[in-house]
Parts: sequence; C-alpha cells; structure tokens
Amino acid sequence: MTKPKVAFFDFSSCEGCQLCVLDLAPQDLLDLLEVIDIVEFREAISEKSDTYDIAIIEGSITRDSDIPRLKKIRETAKVLIALGACAAIGGINALKNFQPKEAYQRDVYADDFNKFETTTARAIHEVVKVDAFIPGCPIDTSEFVRVVKNLVLGKKPDIPTYPVCVECKRNENICVYEKGIQCLGPVVRAGCNARCPSNGGYCFGCRGIIPEPNLHSQKDIMQKYNLSFEQMLGKFKLFLERNKEVFPDGNK
Ligand code: SF4
Ligand code: SF4
Ligand code: SF4
Repeated sequence: MTKPKVAFFDFSSCEGCQLCVLDLAPQDLLDLLEVIDIVEFREAISEKSDTYDIAIIEGSITRDSDIPRLKKIRETAKVLIALGACAAIGGINALKNFQPKEAYQRDVYADDFNKFETTTARAIHEVVKVDAFIPGCPIDTSEFVRVVKNLVLGKKPDIPTYPVCVECKRNENICVYEKGIQCLGPVVRAGCNARCPSNGGYCFGCRGIIPEPNLHSQKDIMQKYNLSFEQMLGKFKLFLERNKEVFPDGNK
C-alpha cells in the first residue's frame, strides 16, 4: 500500500501541539510511520514538499496575508486536519477579538503597533473547509494517533461528542463543585480523560463546547452552587468567550 504523504503547517500558535506530536511515545510514532509518510514538518525535518495528501494545520489565522497560503494548502491536500484549539476553535488567540484592535496591537508592539499586520483571530474552518479536527490545548497525543490512523483507513475521526464529566465520573473523581470550584466539564468535549479535574484542577474548556451541550445541566449546577452566568463566563473566558452564544440567556 502506498502511504499517504502528510505535511504539517503552522499559523499563529505556540507550536505546542506540534511539539506534542514530536513527543509521541516511540511505539506510537513507529505505528504512525507505518501508515503515513511525513514529507514536511518544520519542527522536525528540513525537507519540504509541494505535494501531500493530508495537511495538518496548527494555529489560527490572524493576518489576512495568511489566507492565500492557507487556500493553497487546502487546494493541494485531499484531507485537511485542524490541529489543536488554535486551529479548531481559534483558541487563546481569539481572546483579542474582544478588545479594540489598537489595544491589543499596543499591548504586543507598544509604540510600533502600526508596523505589524494583524486582525481578528479565526479558526481554520472559518476560512477554508476542514475535514477533521483534533481538539485541545494542547492536543491529546493518543487521540492524535487515533484520528490520523482512522482517516488514513477511510474511517470517521471518532472525536467524542459527550462531555468531560463522563470521563471524570468514570475516573471516580470527587466533583470540584463540591469543593467550591467551578468547572466547565458538563458542556465541554471529552477525549482528554478529564485531564484537569483528575489532576487537582478543573476543566476550563480547551476542547471546546460539545455540539449539543446540556445547558440545563450547566445552569442547574450554577444555580445549585449559587453562581452567576457572569462569574462563570469571567472564569472561563480563555476558551469560552467565543462560545458564549450557546448560553443565550445565562442563568436567568
Ligand atoms: S492549541 Fe494551545 S498548545 Fe496548541 S498551538 Fe494553540 S496555544 Fe499552543
Ligand atoms: S463538573 Fe468538572 S469536576 Fe465535576 S464531574 Fe464534571 S468534569 Fe468532573
Ligand atoms: S479537562 Fe477541560 S481544560 Fe482540561 S484538558 Fe480536558 S477539556 Fe481541556
């Protein structure tokens, strides 16, 4: 069987999701290399290729001048995967979308703020068609391997559509709400094995909101623990801000 050629590309990102791929367990990496041929991956190899079957894109689009490059990648690839929260939902970059442009330009570039091109951050699917996405900030490496293998075999990517709470309860964690801590687990996409609440933290939403969130459940929890919608939104601004339209009436 001819192995599909895979190329990695990055736009605005911290490159942490690509680092996760580089940090795969040796056996996972070997398994992956049995089914794909990596032809471009700036963080790992110096080779480049004008042809590839699968493009894996990290980062969000934050400059209009990035768009022709992204469109060219889309035209070349048969399958395009958005890698990580920046690419899949805009991620941390999208926080600037809720500030005046000059404010975030000055924060980053101070007096030189006018010299550098920037605009609102967009997820990859807001610019070109995306065939599959791998959520998370950063990604879950076992999920990455599974999704890529599934796509190579012509199967569906198999990303969970149920919430983090399912995995959290499976891990027999005590819910952090019982300790007075807020958590977005009821409405955020599982697949990380409830990484944060299982390790002393809480879910802050890096994998994005599930397709059909049970808003009643989240609202019931907020009411039970006497939390306002504004308190919740403030705490989870990092990834939730762009999704706040799914909570149209808050906790009224
Ligand atoms: S999703 Fe997170 S880890 Fe991945 S590139 Fe973006 S900021 Fe970095
Ligand atoms: S709300 Fe958070 S801590 Fe509680 S069960 Fe759900 S994921 Fe776990
Ligand atoms: S628990 Fe929530 S914030 Fe933590 S990795 Fe999973 S989805 Fe992301």
